[in-house]
Amino acid sequence: MKILVLNSGSSSIKFQLFEMTERRSIASGIIENIGDGTAKAKIYSDHGATQETAVIRNHQEGMAVIERLLNQSGVLQDIGSLDAVGHRVVHGGETFREPVIIDDEVISAINDLIPLAPLHNPANLEGIITVLQKAPQTVQVAVFDTAFHQNMPPSSYLYALPYELYEKYRVRRYGFHGTSHYFVAKKAAECLDRPLEQLRIITLHLGNGSSAAAIKYGVCIDTSMGMTPLEGLVMGTRSGDVDPGVLFYLARQMNLSIDEIDTLLNKESGLKGICGVNDMRTIMQLADKGDERALLALEIFCYRIKKYIGAYSASLGGADAVVFTGGIGENSAFIRAKVCEGLEYMGIEIASEECRRQDGIVTLHSRDSRVNVLAIPTDEELEIALQTQQLLQKKIAT
Ligand code: ADP
Repeated sequence: MKILVLNSGSSSIKFQLFEMTERRSIASGIIENIGDGTAKAKIYSDHGATQETAVIRNHQEGMAVIERLLNQSGVLQDIGSLDAVGHRVVHGGETFREPVIIDDEVISAINDLIPLAPLHNPANLEGIITVLQKAPQTVQVAVFDTAFHQNMPPSSYLYALPYELYEKYRVRRYGFHGTSHYFVAKKAAECLDRPLEQLRIITLHLGNGSSAAAIKYGVCIDTSMGMTPLEGLVMGTRSGDVDPGVLFYLARQMNLSIDEIDTLLNKESGLKGICGVNDMRTIMQLADKGDERALLALEIFCYRIKKYIGAYSASLGGADAVVFTGGIGENSAFIRAKVCEGLEYMGIEIASEECRRQDGIVTLHSRDSRVNVLAIPTDEELEIALQTQQLLQKKIAT
C-alpha cells in the first residue's frame, strides 16, 4: 500500500512516499520557491538523490514535478496509482477533532477556517485541490495540527476575555504540532512498555517553532500554543508568552501599526530578538565563545520550558514521563540537561550520561528517577500516513 504525504506551504511542497506494508518511507523531497523564477526540487529515495531547478509557477506545476521525480526514481508510476494521499492541514478549528476523508464538504469547512490560519490553510487547500484535479478517484485524507488538542477542557482552552468573543469569533486556544505531540507520546508509551492510557506525559516539541503539551492518559489536557502559534515557549523568531500590555505600549510610544506589531512578535522576537540569531546551533556556537546575548537567549529559552514543565506537572498531578522532540529537543543534549536542571523536586533525576538506544530514542533519567526523561525523534509524516491508512482501511471495510 502506497501513501503519499503532502505538506503544502505557500511557496513550497514537502512530500514523502510511504510503503505502508513495511511502514517505511521510500522517497521524500521538497519543492521550494514556487512562484519564483528559480524553484528548486529535491528528491531522496533508495535509488539516490536528485536535485534540479526549474520554473514552477504554482502548486499544479509543483505536483507535476513531484510526480515526474517519483516516476524517474522508480518508486511510483503516477499519482493515480497511489492508494491514498494524506495532507497536513494546519487549522481544523473546532470542526475537526480527528482526521477525515476529504470531500466537498470538508474542502468547504477548511476554507471556512482560513481566517484562523490565513497563511497556512489556503496553501494546504492548494495541495488538496491539485491532487483532486490530477487524480479525482484517489482517496485524500486531511490530518489537522490542531485535532489532538481538541479534547482540552474549557479551563485550558478559554481565554479570560468576554465570552461572546469565543461564541462569535471563535477566539480560544487551539494549539498546534498536535501530530508530533501525539506521535512521540505513543512512542514513549511503547518505549516504557506501558499503555498510553495509563501515563501522564509532558511532551516538548522544540524546533524553530516550539510547544509543550500535557497529555493525561492519552488525552491532551493543555498545550502552550494558543489561538495562533505565537503563544507559549520562546521560539526561533516568535516571542511566545508576552504581556499584551506591551503591545499597547509599543503602539502608543512608537506609533507602530497592528501589522508592524504582528511582524515584530512573529518574525523579529524570540531567540532572534534577544541575540540576533534564530538558529539554535549558531546560538550555541556563539555562547561557546562567550557571547553574552547568546548566553542570555539560552537562559530565557530553557527557563520558559522549565516553567511549563512545572505548570504541566501541576495540571497532570505529577508526570510519568517528559519527552523532548523537534530539531532542538532531539539533538541538543546541552539544552535537555539545562531544562532538567533543578527538577529533582518533581522526581526528575538525570543520569551522568545519556543513553542512546538502537531505535534512536535517548534516555536521560537515572535508575532512581521517578520520571522517565526521553528524547524521541518525531515523524509527523509517518503519523499522517498511519492515520490516512486507518481511514482508508475503515472506508474499504464499509
Ligand atoms: P522546524 O520547526 O522548522 O521544523 P526543526 O524541528 O527542524 O524546525 O528544528 C530546527 C532547529 O533545531 C534549529 O534551531 C536548529 O539549529 C536546531 N538544531 C538542529 N540540530 C541541532 C543540534 N545538534 N543542536 C542544537 N540545535 C539543533
